[in-house]
Amino acid sequence: MEALLCPACQAELDTRRNEQICGQCQIPVHITAICPTCQQELERLRACGAVDYFCNHCNSLISKRTVQFKAVLV
Ligand SMILES: [Zn+2]
Ligand SMILES: [Zn+2]
Repeated sequence: MEALLCPACQAELDTRRNEQICGQCQIPVHITAICPTCQQELERLRACGAVDYFCNHCNSLISKRTVQFKAVLV
């Protein structure tokens, strides 16, 4: 999986959470998971500590390896 970088300081972010504070520059960042097939935003499903991604548009589970992440400043 490709590392997701903070849009402000390029530090590596944790893609498992939607909302987070960059550990390096302390800026709030919103992370969006994007479907590799239709480019729509994915829904995060949490089960037993694991996170799965579901595309409501394709109506299918998306493998974590193929999900594309986007970080935007809040
Ligand atoms: Zn940062
Ligand atoms: Zn999709």
